[in-house]
Amino acid sequence: MIDIRPPFRKVASERLPMRIETLAVHAGHEIDRASGAVSAPISLSTTFERDVDGGYSRGHMYTRNSNPNRAALEQGIAALEGGEAAAAFASGMGAAMALFQSLAPGDHILAHVDAYYGMTRLLQDFFVGWGLRADFVDMSDIDKVKKALRKETRLVWTETPSNPLLKIVDLAAIAEIAHTTEAICVCDNTWAPVIQRPFDLGLDLTLHSTTKYFGGHCDVLGGVLVTKKNNAFFERVQKIQYCGGAVPSPFDCWLVLRGMRTLPWRIKAHSENAMKVARFLAEHPRVERVHYPGLPGHPAHDVAARQMSAFGGMLSLEVKGGREAAMTVAAKTKLFIRATSLGGVESLIEHRASIEGPGTQSPEGLLRLSVGLEHPDDLIEDLDQAL
Ligand code: PLP
Repeated sequence: MIDIRPPFRKVASERLPMRIETLAVHAGHEIDRASGAVSAPISLSTTFERDVDGGYSRGHMYTRNSNPNRAALEQGIAALEGGEAAAAFASGMGAAMALFQSLAPGDHILAHVDAYYGMTRLLQDFFVGWGLRADFVDMSDIDKVKKALRKETRLVWTETPSNPLLKIVDLAAIAEIAHTTEAICVCDNTWAPVIQRPFDLGLDLTLHSTTKYFGGHCDVLGGVLVTKKNNAFFERVQKIQYCGGAVPSPFDCWLVLRGMRTLPWRIKAHSENAMKVARFLAEHPRVERVHYPGLPGHPAHDVAARQMSAFGGMLSLEVKGGREAAMTVAAKTKLFIRATSLGGVESLIEHRASIEGPGTQSPEGLLRLSVGLEHPDDLIEDLDQAL
């Protein structure tokens, strides 16, 4: 019988080195061998057939351990971030949980004070009771980090730009300090995928809430941990992933990997729009302050310019008149949707202090914007009429 099939295309990793836009389109994608489908099928099967000898030569046994869509997503994101491996979870917080659970009681975590409030709450309300110790410092101040580091610090947790004050952490400097005690240095890179490359700056792990820019359309929840080196610590994270089972569904993996294909172009456009909105707000008489690392007046603009190729789609503004004035502005926007979360194609506005609740560090007049992909002039006109 003549085999009429054309030769299979090579998988992304076997092709020539690629630029980031090309990698985003191809990493984790292969033509389906059985059907020739260009867009990967979604494998809903929870269980996979053994070979005649009892083995699993096709790579999967039970879907909590691994499945084709999750494997494709993990390969794709690891390639895009420049790491050796990745582990995908059902949410960003699920990914953080697995990381903290990989530590041992007594271990010390040093975390950025202006990190995502859910992360701070997870550490303070659950993991401290579980035996981890945690201190929070302003990591935009290197001396504070040096002073707070202990010999038993096992994990240094950074987030930059931070949430919601858009503080900038000098990643290379923090990694160097963390490594003096052999601590693992992690960056929550959710706000700056592609435009910030923590592994090139010496970090060991990154976390993304893929709910945000990776998914890109506010329709899928997910999280991922990526490691620069495949080592014993990451094997423990992977074990917690498949033993603990906080894994994403095959459809969620498929959606996130699809979102990744346009991520480099989307994040460029988000960044361009945010820069225009930030410049407009900085000149507005009703605005007290704008927090955006792309503005030359930002206290760490030079650090951001060094470690980011664009400044991202997130910014905060402080409205003159405090809480009441800020609430009124949020209620009056017509295009900006008054909702939490970020990273989707539609622009969002939210009053951070009221979503964070008691203990919030957010100024009462602060509104956080997730700048979407609408025309920037429409966004500016909307903010102008609301202000
Ligand atoms: N990290 C950052 C910076 C976030 O903004 C969020 C959510 O808003 C998370 C992590 C948590 O991700 P998820 O909501 O997917 O659990």
